[in-house]
Amino acid sequence: MVDVTVRGAGVFGLSIAWECLSRGAKVRVIDPNGVAAGASGGIVGALAPHVPENWNEKKERQFESLIAAEDFWKNVQFWAGIETSYARTGRIQPLADERAVALARGREETSKLLWKGKAQWRVCHADDLLGLVPDSATGQYVHDTLTARIFPKQACEALAKAIEARGGVITTEAEDAGKVVWATGVHDLERMNRHFAGNIGSAVKGQGALLKYDASNAPQVFADTVHIVPHWNGTVAVGSTSEREFETPFDTDEQLDAVLERAYAVLPVLRDAEVIQRWAGLRPKAKSRAPMLGAHPLFEGQFIANGGFKIGFGMATEIARMMAEMILDETDSIPAEFGPDASL
Ligand SMILES: Cc1cc2nc3c(=O)[nH]c(=O)nc-3n(C[C@H](O)[C@H](O)[C@H](O)COP(=O)(O)OP(=O)(O)OC[C@H]3O[C@@H](n4cnc5c(N)ncnc54)[C@H](O)[C@@H]3O)c2cc1C
Repeated sequence: MVDVTVRGAGVFGLSIAWECLSRGAKVRVIDPNGVAAGASGGIVGALAPHVPENWNEKKERQFESLIAAEDFWKNVQFWAGIETSYARTGRIQPLADERAVALARGREETSKLLWKGKAQWRVCHADDLLGLVPDSATGQYVHDTLTARIFPKQACEALAKAIEARGGVITTEAEDAGKVVWATGVHDLERMNRHFAGNIGSAVKGQGALLKYDASNAPQVFADTVHIVPHWNGTVAVGSTSEREFETPFDTDEQLDAVLERAYAVLPVLRDAEVIQRWAGLRPKAKSRAPMLGAHPLFEGQFIANGGFKIGFGMATEIARMMAEMILDETDSIPAEFGPDASL
């Protein structure tokens, strides 16, 4: 009695399973490595929007996903009975020079239309901000109210609990039954690379660190290419490296030390905080750099959800909705640039 089998218990697989369950389907998730064993078992979790300009389908879908996330995670928390760690706490970005200020002011205007009054992007001064406020060479900042934070591993554990609470099954081994969705991240990209003897996608290594520092619900900070993300449990995450070439996928090294140094320069108060975890994982990146959603290129009648790359958590809600519609209703609302053909 299974309508949908989801292979892969990362954020994509679990979110799709959850959405299918919520629409009344009987769902089984299979992952030989357990929940959040891949990229989704990380610690950074910046759900950050694209800048509000040069709008396109990808940015619109991500915007919709970030807006939908609030209700999505509230519902998950209700069923799971444990913290999801999601909160729309916003983000602060210092503006380094007058050119950056001018650009940010232009975006302040375009955001009013593109963000439909559902979130704000504003240029402001330090006096207008609370929380961890870095120095700014111009004295000015962008503060947006769309960015959210989530602790990836905790969010996946909550999703898994919520799925089980509503009768879904999560297991390490079972036969496929019903409609089958592959959400197996790097595993599937490598399988397609072998099959098509080409570059359909690749793994991009990322390293992050977790500091013991309680910044509560302070907005996250993005400066000097570093994300500094206060989490709900008295920690602050710092990330990430972006490595196309690497020898050891799951080890951390001096490249993470360099990210930490940049974070300390942005927010010197963090220098004395204990580093309680160093973490590395592989982001699944499709050749198109966009999510890869739809009919599976290798298995007729089956589906794929892959290519989360750097925004997998931010996109998960909208991806779950589009995939559930396709799997259960045969309704295709997936933009062409997210189709597997974009990378084949
Ligand atoms: C350092 C770092 C920082 C990041 N920061 C952010 C961020 O701030 N914001 C954001 O939105 N995203 C971020 N990401 C990206 C995000 O983590 C990924 O996009 C997302 O986790 C991808 O989810 P997934 O479910 O597609 O893949 P995964 O989480 O990799 O899940 C794939 C699963 O498939 C399983 N599997 C493999 N083979 C099989 C098989 N044969 N059968 C069944 N299951 C199988 C694996 O065990 C794994 O659990 C970051 C990633 C990294 C590495």
